Amino acid sequence: MEYEDKDEQELSDEEIKEMREGFDKDIWPEMKITLKGMSKKDACFVSFVAGCDLTRKAQEEEFNEAREKLSKMSDKEIEEVIKKGSEGELWSEGNYLENVNPNDSNHEERMKYFHEKDDDKKEHSCKKCNKPIGKHNLYWHEEMCNDCFFDDKGM
Ligand SMILES: [Zn+2]
Repeated sequence: MEYEDKDEQELSDEEIKEMREGFDKDIWPEMKITLKGMSKKDACFVSFVAGCDLTRKAQEEEFNEAREKLSKMSDKEIEEVIKKGSEGELWSEGNYLENVNPNDSNHEERMKYFHEKDDDKKEHSCKKCNKPIGKHNLYWHEEMCNDCFFDDKGM
């Protein structure tokens, strides 16, 4: 996690070196002409605008690439991508789910109790503390009541 955050916020020495080389070669020769005779403040502002412009262009390129990729995919492949995305959301919502496995013979039955419902009769009992639990906990919380399950997962 810490690594990812760092990765997003800071440029590595290598990246800065690459940027510097690109700047010297491609950007500076043209910019030098534009900046000639400007006040320092104006020159900084023009550089700032140029930087924003480069970022925007890079984002546009990324977007176009993604769009081209999508245009080459079949409907089925696109569906897969969307499905993957929404499953990811479920995970990140902190539902603490086991993997959803459509090939599980119990899959349909399990999906009925995917969301905890008020009318879920507590006809089962927690395998740890014996407290009555419903089918939601039976299928999705490893046969444990919420307390034991979250305790078990260290949450
Ligand atoms: Zn329990």
